[in-house]
Amino acid sequence: MATPPGRVRSVRAADLRWRGALAVLDEMRREPGVTRAAVARRLGLSTGSATEITSRLRELALLAETPAAATSRGRPTSVLAPHPEGPLVIAVDLRQEDWRCAIAALDGEPAVAETGTHRSRAPEDVIGPVARAVRRLRRRHGRRVRAISVAVAATVQHGRVVQSSVLGWDAVDLAALSPDPGPPLLIGNDATLAGLAEARRGAAAGAATVLHVTVEVGVGGTLVVGGRPLHGATGAGGEFGHLPFGDPGLRCPCGARGCWDLAVDGRAIARHLGEPPPRDPRTYAERALSRTPEDPAARAAVGRAATGLARGLAGLINALDPAVVTLGGLAEPLRAAAGPEFTAALTGGLMRFRRPHPPPVLAAALGRDGALHGAVMTALDHVLTEEGLAAWEALRRGPRA
Ligand SMILES: [Zn+2]
Repeated sequence: MATPPGRVRSVRAADLRWRGALAVLDEMRREPGVTRAAVARRLGLSTGSATEITSRLRELALLAETPAAATSRGRPTSVLAPHPEGPLVIAVDLRQEDWRCAIAALDGEPAVAETGTHRSRAPEDVIGPVARAVRRLRRRHGRRVRAISVAVAATVQHGRVVQSSVLGWDAVDLAALSPDPGPPLLIGNDATLAGLAEARRGAAAGAATVLHVTVEVGVGGTLVVGGRPLHGATGAGGEFGHLPFGDPGLRCPCGARGCWDLAVDGRAIARHLGEPPPRDPRTYAERALSRTPEDPAARAAVGRAATGLARGLAGLINALDPAVVTLGGLAEPLRAAAGPEFTAALTGGLMRFRRPHPPPVLAAALGRDGALHGAVMTALDHVLTEEGLAAWEALRRGPRA
């Protein structure tokens, strides 16, 4: 539909109107507990401008201010926090075995509201309970819920699940999680969202180019550049687990041969131990990792998986040149359990010129909450725009506010 000329003008006016407000809200999100004085300093705002912006945001229920503890220097200031009646987002983390549903305000801190374990991995058994939890949260919070964001252990293309070797799905429609009319539904790959969270707020905060690699069932990850994950042309990028770093004699559930997935996770460890493929490869891998101190066979199998992980990491570092690498899920426990093999394979796989100064490889800081944090961030990115704030203002000022 063509945009009428008047609409274009009003959007441009909104740009200017909301610019300062968005900058202040972004600071509040970046650093929960930040003071108005600190935000003014960082944004180069006068005390008067900062006070004017925050009082307007208070009036719109976009933030609350409480007196900050007095310091010896400077004038009294306030701590910026989400308004108790302000906008909310719902974030869902949909994993192989279970799900969690959280709510977050504009500071981006997810509070888990409901959890469950899948009865089976059939799409209806997975989606039904999650949709009911989302409905309950929407009923409780009404139109304060501005977006619903789902992190799913699946490949996402054009905002839809197209395949999940982890859940055994082909294309699955998640639209039931937010039936019309409702807030927008945003769907993202779990490892991509966890990487986004590590790059913005986790172990790699402050780095411009971040490679995140995680091992759950298979390998996932993303390259985050300037706080944005690289999604590719259709949104389906970052499927590192399906690089052919594995044995070409092995067929991956994704349909390809020789995937890295099969060389690193619980399935790889089981194969090395001569055991059948586990139904829950993550739990299987955790148990094998816990046995390594006293079980030489488990230690050797874990060592081979850690070698597979590090070889692939070296390849990704050669190709993508990250400033920092973060390891999520079982990647860090694999490195910790088989340090010598991991280091030898990583160094051996790096190009010579990189070896004196390889990027730091850090354990992810957000643990298993990374995907949930990333889902919240994506939802708030959607809410904290000129259009998002203008819609919220209209709702607050409207007859039903
Ligand atoms: Zn594959």
